[in-house]
Amino acid sequence: MPRSFLPYGLHSIDDEDRAAVDESLRGDWITSGPTIARFEAALGEVCSAPYVVAVNSGTAALDIAVGALELEPGSEAITTPLTFAATANACLYHGVRPVFADIDRHTWNLDPEEVRKRITSKTRLIICVDYSGQPADIDDLRALADAHGLHLIEDAAHSLGATSRGRPVGSLCEMTTLSFHPVKHVTTGEGGAVTTANEQLYRRLLLLRNHGIDRDASARYGPMAGWAYDIKVLGRNYRLTDFQCALGISQLRKLKRFIDKRRALVSRYQDRLPPDVTMVKQMPDRQSSWHLLPVLVPEGVSRDAVFTYMRQAGIGVNVHYIPVYRHTYYRKEIPTRPEDYPITERVFSRLLTLPLHPGMEMSDVDEVCGILGSACLERTP
Ligand SMILES: *Cc1c(COP(=O)(O)O)cnc(C)c1O
Repeated sequence: MPRSFLPYGLHSIDDEDRAAVDESLRGDWITSGPTIARFEAALGEVCSAPYVVAVNSGTAALDIAVGALELEPGSEAITTPLTFAATANACLYHGVRPVFADIDRHTWNLDPEEVRKRITSKTRLIICVDYSGQPADIDDLRALADAHGLHLIEDAAHSLGATSRGRPVGSLCEMTTLSFHPVKHVTTGEGGAVTTANEQLYRRLLLLRNHGIDRDASARYGPMAGWAYDIKVLGRNYRLTDFQCALGISQLRKLKRFIDKRRALVSRYQDRLPPDVTMVKQMPDRQSSWHLLPVLVPEGVSRDAVFTYMRQAGIGVNVHYIPVYRHTYYRKEIPTRPEDYPITERVFSRLLTLPLHPGMEMSDVDEVCGILGSACLERTP
């Protein structure tokens, strides 16, 4: 069947998913029902995490994760500029200043050595991102965090199902945040979650998800007060619905299959990419779950020309990401000099995301590689 446009990412929904949502909608609970805990338990299994709090976006997950740390306003959090702005925004919601550190030249993940250089007396937190699906350098970051008494949050929006030294993402950090946006590994429409092994943080995450409401208010109003609740902290409504969780449970059953397909597509890309197109380097002790397939166009070739050529040919290439410090809001609030981030700038100037999602065929990869090859040839000055 001819296709007019191949997007860079796409959800995969089948009859089983539709049946799961339908069944949920026929039940008694639309929201705050028993499917939430079932979804959280299924995520806990995948992530080897004792506690999971499901919320209604990855952004909400980041917001409550930073909130649960109860940092003093004016504190600093060190993070990567090569991410979606939500990572850094989560800090600003809490009066915490994001400080960007440059990325590693091979993995394009946060460079622990650059993080170390940015630590000040105000630093309280490091937020790493598992860029494209490959876990960040967690061991070095944790050593750094421990040495300086810092918290460590892993934004794992790209890396559900990935492992580092055999351990699954979701079990590597104090808190890990996930996203279930349609382009991510599994979807609930919109959705997200925080995983943790820390019970105290878990209690705070639960409060923050639901208006700061604590139902156990009998101490204040007496044991007979069945109506009692108490607002303990300034929370939000970040609850996920039962039918979304039903979709999430059904999607999680297919996670391994989705990731296997993504890995197979990536190895096809590896074989077929035009010469001089560079893939993000993989570390031998980590197994990426491949959310994105970012490449660098060859030196001397215009990325923007390649982008336009491929879009005109119906290939949904993209750029992940515009470095966060380049956005207008960040230029105003957190003035930085792009020249302080030479690796990020160099990667960004040649960066291109190629289509990658489980619904693709090997022949799609061949087509993308063919068009990319023509685009690079045509656009070589
Ligand atoms: C997708 C994404 C988010 C935000 O997730 P939403 O569910 O869209 O709110 C945060 N960080 C990164 C790195 C992401 O890719």
